[in-house]
Amino acid sequence: MHHEAVVGNQPGETFLLNECYASIQGESSLVGTPTVFVRLYSCNLRCAWCDSVYAVEGGDYEEVPVADVVERVRQLTAGDGRRGGISHVCWTGGEPLLQWRSVARAIEALPAHFVHSMETDGEVDLGPFDAAMASQRADGRVRYIMDIKCPGSAMVAKKAYENLRFLRPVDEVKFVLLDRADYEFARDVVRRNEIPAATILFSPVNPANRVNRGLDATELAGWILEDRLDVRLQPQIHKFLWPGQERGV
Ligand code: SF4
Repeated sequence: MHHEAVVGNQPGETFLLNECYASIQGESSLVGTPTVFVRLYSCNLRCAWCDSVYAVEGGDYEEVPVADVVERVRQLTAGDGRRGGISHVCWTGGEPLLQWRSVARAIEALPAHFVHSMETDGEVDLGPFDAAMASQRADGRVRYIMDIKCPGSAMVAKKAYENLRFLRPVDEVKFVLLDRADYEFARDVVRRNEIPAATILFSPVNPANRVNRGLDATELAGWILEDRLDVRLQPQIHKFLWPGQERGV
């Protein structure tokens, strides 16, 4: 089982790394921002529409010392002159918080002005990482984009509701929506829960994995407007910029 490899790696010493590259952030309120992505291997979930199955199962990873990943990120972020260089890092996967000790060590070792986005599936306890990153959380340099899984994912959101207490205005909550039923689920979660994150993303599913029909973004826009819902429609712009390209975007 590849999943066991995650348990087997050295917490805080190495990463199970799937890929590391510079691209344009395609999601969240940082959409459009040049960003270095660190995609870590394996996940606690198996979403029906997962668009990064290659980072979830199949064994496509290398075990890399934390210091080496820090060096790769440094090289990828380097740039010259005014407005030169990348200062945003996105930790994604798979589920990056399965390797939170290594992530925390890498963040400590990277330049202090970097902003780190943690793309988490919501079903891993945010508590330990949040405590380890207390000062970076306080000044907004480590921010969460936390999923709340809708029924169309074939997963069940549980821990995500407990994790809401760790969120701050700088954070974002994301719902990936397969259909109208998912939209109504997400709308009801937003209406019924106190969500401290300022930004709430409603993102239409693109065909991937076990799902071959996406949700029409125009239709979703209509539903949001009809309900006057204070959320952000979030199509993934990297799918427009590099259509059909799965990796490295
Ligand atoms: S949580 Fe993300 S990486 Fe994990 S299976 Fe779901 S979509 Fe894929």
